[in-house]
Amino acid sequence: MRNPATPGAIAESADLVLPLLSPRDLAAAASACRSLRAAAAAVTTRRAADAARSLEPLPVPFHNRVDSKPYAYFLYTPYSLARPAPGASSSPSAQPWGGAWARPPVPTWPRPSLDGFPSTVCGCACEAGECGGPRCTCVDAEADVADTGSEGGGMGSLRECGDGCACGPSCGNRRTQRGVAVRLRVVRHLHKGWGLHAVEALGRGQFVCEYAGEFLTTEEARKRQRLYDELASVGKLSPALIVIREHLPSGKACLRVNIDATKVGNVARFINHSCDGGNLHPVLVRTSGSLLPRLCFFSAGDIMEGEELTFSYGDARVRPNGLHCFCGSSGCCGVLPSEET
Ligand SMILES: [Zn+2]
Ligand SMILES: [Zn+2]
Ligand SMILES: [Zn+2]
Repeated sequence: MRNPATPGAIAESADLVLPLLSPRDLAAAASACRSLRAAAAAVTTRRAADAARSLEPLPVPFHNRVDSKPYAYFLYTPYSLARPAPGASSSPSAQPWGGAWARPPVPTWPRPSLDGFPSTVCGCACEAGECGGPRCTCVDAEADVADTGSEGGGMGSLRECGDGCACGPSCGNRRTQRGVAVRLRVVRHLHKGWGLHAVEALGRGQFVCEYAGEFLTTEEARKRQRLYDELASVGKLSPALIVIREHLPSGKACLRVNIDATKVGNVARFINHSCDGGNLHPVLVRTSGSLLPRLCFFSAGDIMEGEELTFSYGDARVRPNGLHCFCGSSGCCGVLPSEET
C-alpha cells in the first residue's frame, strides 16, 4: 500500500484538483509545499499552451513577452450558450484546465441546439454533396457575402445548414460549425492587454472563428454592462460583451442580439478593436432550425503570418471618459467605442 503522504501521491491527487482552481487559488496551493509548487507550475505551463483547453481542433497558445501573466483565466466554450432560465444553475463555474492527462481535441460536432427549435422544420433535404448548390434551400439569395470581403463595411450575412437539415457533419454548407481550424495565438500587448494573432497566413474570405459566449436578454446585458463599465474603468476587467443590432428588411424592426464572452467564451474574446475597421469581417450566420443568429468572423483580405486580428467594435462613443484606444491605426480617434446599451 502506498503512503498517501509521499510526494508522488500528492502530485497525483493534486492533478485531480489543481486544474479546477482559479489562478489565485492555484498560487495559494503552490505556496503550501514543494511538491504542490511543482504540480501547480505544470498546470500553469499547460494552461499557457492552450487557451482552448483541447476544445478546438488546434491548440491556441498564450504568448507573453511583456509582463509575467502566463495566461488569461476564463471558461471556454467553442459555441455560444443559450442563457439558462432565471433561477436555473447558471453557466459552468469551474472547468478543469491544465491537467496532466492529455485529452484529444473534442469534436465540436454535434453542437447542442441553441433554442430547442423543433429540428424537423425549415431545413433542406439535400442528398450528399448537394448542399450549398442551386437546389439547396439553405442558401441566401445574395449568397456569399462572406467571400466578398468588407468593401461595404458593416456586417455580412450568411445561411448555413443546421439542425433542421437532413445532411450531416460533412455537409459543405457548414463552414463555421467545425471550430477554429486556423492557427492562432493569444499575444500580450503592452497597452492593449491580450490580443488574438494569426500564426499562419490567411486568404481573403477564410473562416476564422465564431464569437462564442452567453446569449443574454437585453435586460441582463444592460445589468452586466453597468457592472463591467465600473470594473473596466478601474482596470479590473476587460469586458467582452457585444451587442449586435440588425435592421430587418422592413426597415422598421431591429433585431438585437447580446453575446457576453467575458466569463464564458472562446478565442474571439481576445480580438481587439481597430478604428480602421480591422482585418476581420463580421458576418451574422443563420443556421436552419435555429432562431438565434451566430456572429462569425472571416478574413476581410489577405492576412499575414503573425498579424493581429481586429474588427471595429462600432462607431458610437457615448461615454466621454471612455477607455483609451491603442489600436495604432492612422484613423484612431483615441477612445474605444461605447454605446448606450
Ligand atoms: Zn442543403
Ligand atoms: Zn447541408
Ligand atoms: Zn440545409
